[in-house]
Amino acid sequence: MRILVTGGAGFLGSHLCDRLLRDGHEVICIDNLFTGQKANIAHLLPNPRFEFVRHDVTDPFKYEVDQIYNLACPASPPHYQYNPIKTIKTSVMGAINCLGLAKRVRARVFQASTSEVYGDPSVHPQPESYWGNVNPIGKRSCYDEGKRCAETLFFDYHRENHLDIRVIRIFNTYGPRMHPNDGRVVSNFIVQALRGEDLTIYGDGKQTRSFCFVDDLIEGFVRFMAQTETVGPMNLGNPGEFTMIELAELTLKLVGGQSKIVHRPLPSDDPKQRQPDITLAKKVLGWEPRVPLEEGLKRTIEYFRSRVSEGGRAS
Ligand code: NAD
Ligand code: UDP
Repeated sequence: MRILVTGGAGFLGSHLCDRLLRDGHEVICIDNLFTGQKANIAHLLPNPRFEFVRHDVTDPFKYEVDQIYNLACPASPPHYQYNPIKTIKTSVMGAINCLGLAKRVRARVFQASTSEVYGDPSVHPQPESYWGNVNPIGKRSCYDEGKRCAETLFFDYHRENHLDIRVIRIFNTYGPRMHPNDGRVVSNFIVQALRGEDLTIYGDGKQTRSFCFVDDLIEGFVRFMAQTETVGPMNLGNPGEFTMIELAELTLKLVGGQSKIVHRPLPSDDPKQRQPDITLAKKVLGWEPRVPLEEGLKRTIEYFRSRVSEGGRAS
């Protein structure tokens, strides 16, 4: 198949491009390189089945493709809050442009949605049937509401135009190719520990997240896109739940060194807990994560060791 991946030079997008090429497909990757890196796809450029186009998804695009994976959107809070209006435009107009294209060429179209649609959840763990608890006017809203609106558009195109959609809700995922300045917690802690800097816990560190290793997630993407039983939404993530204190201590244990833990103010609307209910993914895809946190962190630390020695800095 010929497959379009928006946001393909980003962390998840570049792993997805790798996988699709390995599976024998042609891949067109479009990305404006806001948070993505050419280095993530440099190894793919010589491949005749791979094409990179620098393009912003808020502007329309046309390609003859069989499938579209829409991943373009900054995902780290500091980056999506840097220009919040642009973030919501990327989610909403990017979705409209993908859906318009999918309608014209009758392509199956995938949306990378997020656990953020559940906001600061009052139901725990979160099943897909939970409608969420999102502040519509807070600092995270540009991302949360942008992604919620994108889901709405996907389901309206599905109902109105019979578009063949797939909507995945991704829970915190980490791994090699996160940017050293990404700002999310796993990369921050690892880069800080490798540099011998203090690890910055926001708030008391008792808030929880569930961390999925990137290889597990990409396997789930491909299985979900291939099946025809459900269009979603479907949660994908690792149900193992950890406090930020536990994550910091594990990172320090694995990296070694003299870093200490310090506390910084908690950003507004920071969700207190998050854990996916993956019953649906288990049933329909026969999928569940295989890489435990400690093993995934070791692999991610190895990646950052080389990056940090090249000069990348944590935010
Ligand atoms: P990332 O920031 O590494 O990747 C996003 C990519 O989109 C980057 O390459 C960036 O340059 C590109 N992009 C941003 N705005 C664009 C625009 N207007 N036009 C074209 N390209 C644009 O983040 P990621 O972790 O790889 O996230 C990929 C997708 O998965 C995002 O949609 C994100 O919301 C979603 N997601 C990720 C996670 C996670 O834990 N990694 C969790 C939930 C959802
Ligand atoms: N966090 C932290 N230190 C950091 C970065 C993040 O303690 O250096 C916390 C953050 O406040 C949140 C959790 O880690 O409670 C996960 O943050 P991240 O930005 O990775 O993802 P999200 O909040 O979007 O789940």
